[in-house]
Amino acid sequence: MRKLKERSLRVLKPFDPWNSPLCTCPFKYSLNPYTGCSHMCLYCYATSYIGVRKSTPKKNFIKNLVHDLQRTDPLVPINMGTSSDPYPPEESIYKLTRRALKILVSIGRKVLITTKGVIVERDIDILKKGNVAVTPTITTLDDNLAKIIEPGAPPPSKRLETLGILTSNDIPVGVRVDPIIPYVNDDEKEIEELIGRLSELNVSFIVTSTYKAKPDNLARMRRGLGDIGEKIYNLYKSKGVRVQGYLYLPREMRERLLRPIIRSAERYGMKYATCREGLVTKEWFNAPSCDGTHLIPFRVKPKNVVEMNLDRWLASEG
Ligand code: SF4
Repeated sequence: MRKLKERSLRVLKPFDPWNSPLCTCPFKYSLNPYTGCSHMCLYCYATSYIGVRKSTPKKNFIKNLVHDLQRTDPLVPINMGTSSDPYPPEESIYKLTRRALKILVSIGRKVLITTKGVIVERDIDILKKGNVAVTPTITTLDDNLAKIIEPGAPPPSKRLETLGILTSNDIPVGVRVDPIIPYVNDDEKEIEELIGRLSELNVSFIVTSTYKAKPDNLARMRRGLGDIGEKIYNLYKSKGVRVQGYLYLPREMRERLLRPIIRSAERYGMKYATCREGLVTKEWFNAPSCDGTHLIPFRVKPKNVVEMNLDRWLASEG
C-alpha cells in the first residue's frame, strides 16, 4: 500500500541514497524545492542528476507538496537539501523553502535542513517554532579555499556566524564536515581548529566522510585544483576501489583521513558519525543517527492534514 502511494508522489520522495549499500540513514523523505544548484561545488555528487547549472525553482512546487503531504507518513522525517541546496541565492526571490517550511511546521512534520546557505537565518522565526534541525556543511575554515571548491556558496566565516545565530535561537544544529578531500582539507591542525570552533558554537554532533570520485566530479576537481587536482586524479585512478558507481579510497586511507576529525570530536565531547564509509563501530560512529535526524526536536504535535484542509490553506497562501 505504501509503495502504491509513493508512486503517486511528486516532490516528496523516499530518500534514495543512489543505491549505496553503505548508507545508514533512517527511512526519510527528501524534498528539494530547486533543481540545479548555484553553489557549484567541485565535488558535488548530485550533478550527474541535476546538472551543473544555477538553482531553478521547481514548477508548481508548493501545490505538489500539498498533494504529497496528504499521501505520506506524518511521522517520517523530511530532509530538505539532499540533492540541491534549499538556500541558494535564488531563495531570496522565490521563497519556496520558506513557504514549504511554513506548511511543514504548521502540521508538525519533522524536518532536517541540509545547507551551505546563510539565508536560513531569515527563517529563524519559523524554525524555532517547529520540529526542525539544521545540518550546515562546513568543509574548511579557509574562505579562500572554499571559494575554489564551493565557488557559489557563502564563505565558511559567514556560515559559522549563521550557525551561531541558529544555536543561540535554540535551533538544534549538527555539522556535516564533509567531504574530506586528500591534499585539500585534510590538515590535522586545521581540522582540530574547525572542530574546536564548532564546539564553541554549541554544536554537539558532526558527521563526516571522505570524498568519493564520480567521473564528472573528478574531472571538475582535476580542472579546478591545478597540481593538487592532478594529484587527486592520480590517487583515485590508481588506488580507487569501485563501489556502486563511485571510486572509494582503500579503507586504511579513508580511516587515516577521518581519524583526526573523530578524535577532535571526541576531545570536545561531541557525538559523531561517518557517512557511507562502512565504518560503523563505536570508534567511528557513536551518534543515534548518521544524518542528524536524532536532533529534530518535538515541538509541534503532528496534525491530520485532512483536518487542516491544506487545499484551502494553499488557496489563501496564493
Ligand atoms: S551545495 Fe550540495 S547540491 Fe549544491 S553544488 Fe554543493 S554539494 Fe552539490
